[in-house]
Amino acid sequence: MNEFLANVRALLGDAHVLTADLAAYATDWRGKFTGQPLAVLRPADTAQVAATVKLCAAHGVAIVPQGGNTGMCGGATPDGSGTQAVLSLGRLNRVRGIDPLNNTLTVEAGCVLRTLQALAAAHDRLFPLSLGAEGSCQIGGNIATNAGGVQVLRYGNTRDLVLGLEVVLPDGQVLNLLRALRKDNTGYDLKHLFIGSEGTLGIITAAVLKLFPAPHANAVAFAALQTPQQALQLLGLMRGHLGDRFTAFELMSQASVAMVREYFPATPALFAAPHPWQVLMQASDAAGQEALDAGFQAALEDALAQGVIDDVVVATSEAQAHALWAVRENISEAQQHDGSNIKHDIAVPVSSVPGFVEEVLPLLHAAYAGVRPVVYGHLGDGNLHFNVSRPAGWTTPDWQLQTDRVNAIVLDVVARYGGSFSAEHGLGQLKAHEMLLYKAPLEVDVMRRIKQALDPQGLMNPRKLLPA
Ligand SMILES: Cc1cc2nc3c(=O)[nH]c(=O)nc-3n(C[C@H](O)[C@H](O)[C@H](O)COP(=O)(O)OP(=O)(O)OC[C@H]3O[C@@H](n4cnc5c(N)ncnc54)[C@H](O)[C@@H]3O)c2cc1C
Repeated sequence: MNEFLANVRALLGDAHVLTADLAAYATDWRGKFTGQPLAVLRPADTAQVAATVKLCAAHGVAIVPQGGNTGMCGGATPDGSGTQAVLSLGRLNRVRGIDPLNNTLTVEAGCVLRTLQALAAAHDRLFPLSLGAEGSCQIGGNIATNAGGVQVLRYGNTRDLVLGLEVVLPDGQVLNLLRALRKDNTGYDLKHLFIGSEGTLGIITAAVLKLFPAPHANAVAFAALQTPQQALQLLGLMRGHLGDRFTAFELMSQASVAMVREYFPATPALFAAPHPWQVLMQASDAAGQEALDAGFQAALEDALAQGVIDDVVVATSEAQAHALWAVRENISEAQQHDGSNIKHDIAVPVSSVPGFVEEVLPLLHAAYAGVRPVVYGHLGDGNLHFNVSRPAGWTTPDWQLQTDRVNAIVLDVVARYGGSFSAEHGLGQLKAHEMLLYKAPLEVDVMRRIKQALDPQGLMNPRKLLPA
């Protein structure tokens, strides 16, 4: 290891091979996993990433790629052996080019998502990926996890927003797939192998991203309703009125909203009395505000008249729209403050969301009196963050010890609905073992064969995504 460290210092410079004060790199955002990195390596560009990976391969050093370290599944956290190197992409933060006519942006992996949104806006374009961690997550991490976020309804997941990739393979070769084409049927589309691969097949160093016309009009509202079934009806109704202009539809249980109000006391009470379910909605349009407002208003009036919603608050200024969004965006952090909870990031067909929720909630309440399911998420994508907080007053044993039992209750129902046990957060080290429970053996076997073909030494993010 000393020889490896000397070689990598010669390559990157002493300042970019960290071996002390590594706490920020050693623990994941949720504080659920803490590892012990051999070192943190901070290459400056693709050539340095390639040379670093070659050195690691020569010395048999395992690599854990790390972007903004906001992942939910411990994918960017090394194990406790002290033998794995964290490869931090933060210095690869250059914009290689923007082509407004082709509607593309070519950037390095370490660019922070929010800076890319701002760059697109400065060119009167939209880069639509948007999520609570956008101030610190990096586009490389977003691609490696195939992140979803709040505008999937209209623009798709990260996978749908990537046209080209540059990847350093586990042997240190640079695979240049940096094409800016919307059509290219020339064999297997290899970029899709790396999107969502969580650093297990190679290191993403750059990407060509899709841009869209910038929205110049926005409408945001928060609606109160009684059941997930009504939320589904509301979704259909809003889409009927607004078509593709309808961009976000976020469902929240009352427990989620109450938790935000508890830990962010400046959050206003939006309705006179609590309602079991609430929905945050947004519509956007590249054309005028008046036409959008008229469509939005008509849809909401229709929903009120049909009794689909009990009440609604419509933002009348940008500041109010931000305040409404803050309720949704602060749920993750409120849960962090609240302490132990068992998280699920599930998907079922959109039409099955009400049935799923109605089936699983009584099972949880029967198993744990007073349990607090904090259910929220992207109903328009059939994706719910179905997080189960410990019953009020629960002291011992540690609530996390209930994980297997709670997972079995929730995920077995997900499986019955033909759903996914990880909709947008990936698997990391948290959920890799669930592959064996909920994926067909042949599907897992094909994934192992791909991994073996690209990474025969098994040095790229070992034991993440695929179980040992
Ligand atoms: C408050 C909050 C809200 C969130 N909301 C959402 C949401 O709405 N939707 C959603 O999908 N996620 C959400 N997330 C999860 C997280 O932000 C995303 O998974 C994000 O895409 C991770 O990016 P990152 O740069 O932080 O990656 P990291 O956490 O650093 O890494 C994630 C995984 O990608 C790998 N990786 C990172 N960079 C590279 C690279 N360049 N090449 C190869 N592999 C790499 C790592 O090894 C790891 O396996 C949220 C997180 C927080 C904290």
